[in-house]
Formats: sequence, structure tokens, C-alpha cells
Amino acid sequence: MAAADVTRLLAHEMAAALRAGETTARELATAHLDLAERQNHALNAWLVIDREAALLQADAADATLTSARRAGTVALHALHPLHGIPVGLKDLISVEGGQCTAGSRILEGYRAPYDAHIVERLREAGAVFLGKTNMDEFAMGSSNEFSAYGPVSNPWDLDTVPGGSSGGSAAAVAAHHVPLSLGTDTGGSIRQPAALCGIVGMKPTYGRVSRYGIVAFASSLDQIGPFARDVRDAAALLHAIAGRDARDSTSAPIPVEAELLDLPADDDEAAAWLRGRRFGLPREYFVAGMDPDVERRIRESVAFLENAGATVDEVSLPHTDYGLATYYITAPAEASANLARYDGIRYGHSVRLDGADFIADYLATRGEGFGAEVKRRIMLGTYALSAGYYDAFYVKAQKVRTLIKRDFDEAFAAGFDALVAPTSPSVAFPFGSKTADPVSMYLSDACTLPVNMAGLPGISIPCGLSEGLPVGLQLIGPAWSELMLFRAARAFEALTAGAAWRGLEPAGIADADAASGPTPGERAARLAAGAALAPGAAR
Ligand code: GLN
Repeated sequence: MAAADVTRLLAHEMAAALRAGETTARELATAHLDLAERQNHALNAWLVIDREAALLQADAADATLTSARRAGTVALHALHPLHGIPVGLKDLISVEGGQCTAGSRILEGYRAPYDAHIVERLREAGAVFLGKTNMDEFAMGSSNEFSAYGPVSNPWDLDTVPGGSSGGSAAAVAAHHVPLSLGTDTGGSIRQPAALCGIVGMKPTYGRVSRYGIVAFASSLDQIGPFARDVRDAAALLHAIAGRDARDSTSAPIPVEAELLDLPADDDEAAAWLRGRRFGLPREYFVAGMDPDVERRIRESVAFLENAGATVDEVSLPHTDYGLATYYITAPAEASANLARYDGIRYGHSVRLDGADFIADYLATRGEGFGAEVKRRIMLGTYALSAGYYDAFYVKAQKVRTLIKRDFDEAFAAGFDALVAPTSPSVAFPFGSKTADPVSMYLSDACTLPVNMAGLPGISIPCGLSEGLPVGLQLIGPAWSELMLFRAARAFEALTAGAAWRGLEPAGIADADAASGPTPGERAARLAAGAALAPGAAR
């Protein structure tokens, strides 16, 4: 197999080729590293690409493959499907000895002293880490424009955002730099960038994956989950990382189903799963200001499900409207507590003012180290937690959170297997179009963050294009229903296997090869200058 071809394979196709001896982990790693290094100038999806470490892991994976092959078919098939497969990690996941910036200046120079639980699990599976991906600072954002290390371009149109906060992880998979990557989702940061980049992304049930070794944003909402270019690959990655870990007391002792590795390969078999299933279509998710063409794609997807034998009925989740407000009290409150640890002494960046006292150093470190959005969240959070406001805001938000969860419980109790909804009200938007107005940016997550508030699993899968840019369909299930969601998503994927948009390469990718072209930061600056010149342009 030619080295140039292997980046176009899905992870399960790579796994088959490895077992058949048609390729090696080193060949896979090398081809993906070459592509990532060549295109990172144009995409800025990676904060570090670690060729040396990746090749060491790839060689170790090849050695294991060789001895398994000698031991026979059973040993070969006992290897995890991720064995020898390149993976990208969002740069808030600790890898021993490596950087872990969380997209912030304040963690510049910090080296992780240990592996995250999921990194241990992926090492056991034999996965090969190519590097760390770009992200919004401390995972706060919906566009990846709030990274201290510059924005990321969307491979479909380099002048638009990939979504956030896991924008680097999503762009890297969409651009074929890796078949798989990991992100975190606190209010939508896996599903929304998956939708905007035209790939699959899942936020598992709260407690499904251990957060040990992950930089915390809002601890009652954060979950880790997979990005992939198809549903089977995403399920295999979740299989590798899910499960109880005593070091994260919120990780649940729920068994990880072996069937996650056995989703049907055959399209007819996959689609047959839909017969007799019931889906709810939450009316409140068709929010005001939603792009009408995105709505059209969602309604067409519903028709696909119905034609395949499922019933889809409208359902009401009446407290949806309060999701945004309660999230923006809860998440900043928890963030303000979690971010108190960046004091200039224990981690990374540190300012020492000559002769000044400790408090002055602390203020200077945080003043320099944090970006504007992070400071905004810390202020919102400390305000909501301060004496006199705690009951009015924080406690009230927790009560509304219970009501949001109850809406979902009632829908599932009424017999719906899952809910079907848009992932994001719009497709990828141009750089700068929402940064001046925090509320318009926050609205990007109106359809995803209630799911985090309720602790439920949700998956985004590609369902077509709007003016050449990908649209995501979201499926939401009861707690611990990841396997069912993957089956439903696999069925939808099978139904649309013949669609014209399915095999398309991201349209901007051809431009990403130009080593002399503009960086995402230069594109953003150029657009900002153009917007400032346009008469009457919104600022
Ligand atoms: N966009 C939301 C925020 O800025 C969600 C981010 C996330 O899921 N990490 O908080």
C-alpha cells in the first residue's frame, strides 16, 4: 500500500490492514505525521506534533503485532482494534513528561508529571499518539478563537472556525491527520466542532470516562469523548477509554459493552435496527435565529429515519430555554474554583516582580497568564458564588438544572428510545463574526448544553451540507445508552451511505498544502480588517 493512501483509510480499515500485514504501525504513523506537519501551518490544529515519541510507540506496536502474528490468529485478534492506530489528544490531557497547556499561557512550560487514566488505557490498547491538539483556553469557547496559541481553521473553508473548544481535535480528524482524536465536552465542545467539521463526535454519559489527569473546567459537566470519521471508529475509541477508575470518584462502575466493537459493518443490517424505534423531536431545539438550511437538513434526516421504519414524534422539553442561563452560572462558578490553583507557584507561567510581595506576583501572573474570555468566566463565577448572590444565582441554577434533567427523564419515560435534534443552529462561521458579542457565541451551544446539564450522552453525526459546509445531526439518549446511540448513529450512517456528500473531502484542504499561504491567525486578522472597513459592519 502506498504511504500516501493510508491517511484516507478509516481506523477499522487500518486495523484490518495491520493484521493482514499489508501495512505497519510505522507506515501509518509516518504518513499521518507527514500530512499533519505539512498542513499545520495552514490549519494550526496541532500545538505539538511529536514524531519521535510517535515512532517509538509505532515500533513497539509493530513488535507486538509481529509476535502476535507468530502466535496465531487468536493472539492477533486479541489485540485491541486501536492497536497501532494514530490518535490525537486535546492539549488538556496529561501525557507524562509532555506539555499540557489547555490552550493557555498560564500553563506554558508546565510538564505533566503522570499519564491521564485514558492515556494509560490507550497505551494498553496499543494506540500511537501523534501529538497534542489546539483548543480554546481552558475549553472555554465555541470557535477555537480563544486559544492563546492562535485560532484553528476549518478544513472545509479555511476562513471559518472549526467550532470549539475541541477545534484542533476535530479539524485534525476532518483533515485526515489522524483517524481518531479525543476532546472534552462541557457544554458542547465535542459535538459542536464535530458538526462544523463534518465528522462524528460523542459526549458520553457523565461518569462514563475517568477525568483523572484532565485539566478541569467545570467538574460537574466535563466529559471526555471520541472524534472519528465514522461511527464504528468512534465506538472503538470509547471502548478503549471508558470504565471505572478509582482515581476519579465520579467515574461509574458500569460495565463497558464488548458490543461497542461489533457494530454492523453491513449497511442493510445496520439500518434494520431502526424498525419500530421511537424518536422524539424536541420542538424547543429549533431555536430562534437558527439557519433555515440547517433546519432543512435536520427535517430531511428525520424523514430518512421514518422511511427506514422508525417513528419520530414531536416532544416538548419545556425548560430548554433556561439551559443557556443556568449553564453560564454553573460552569463559570465551577471554573472560578478550578482555576484558583493557577497561582504562579505550582504550575507553568510565573511572574516575579522585583521586591514585590506575593499577592502582587499572584495578580501579575494571572493578569498575564489568562486570556480575556477566561477572566470573564472567573468574574462571572466568583460573582455568582459571592455571599448574598449565592442563593439568588448558584442555588437557583442548580434547581433549574434538576428541571432540565426532569424534562429528559419524562421524554424517555414516555417511551422514546432517543431524541433527534440539530447539534448546532448554524454551520461553520467566519473568523471574528461572533467574538465581539459573547452572547451570540454562547448561543452556538443552545442545542448541546442542556445535555451536559442533565449528564446524558449525545452524539453528533454528519447529515449533509449547507452551502458547502457540514451540518450535524444530534442524537441524545438516556444515561448509559451509548451503545444504543452508536447503533442508531450507525443506522443513520448506513441510510445515507449513498448520499452525494458522503465521500467528499473537506473543500479547503487543497489550500492547506501551501506552505507559504496565510496562517489561521493571518486569515482572522485579514477578515477583521475587512469587517472594520465595511460600512455599518457589526462590531
Ligand atoms: N462553548 C461552551 C463554553 O464556552 C462549552 C465549552 C465546552 O464544552 N468545553 O463554555
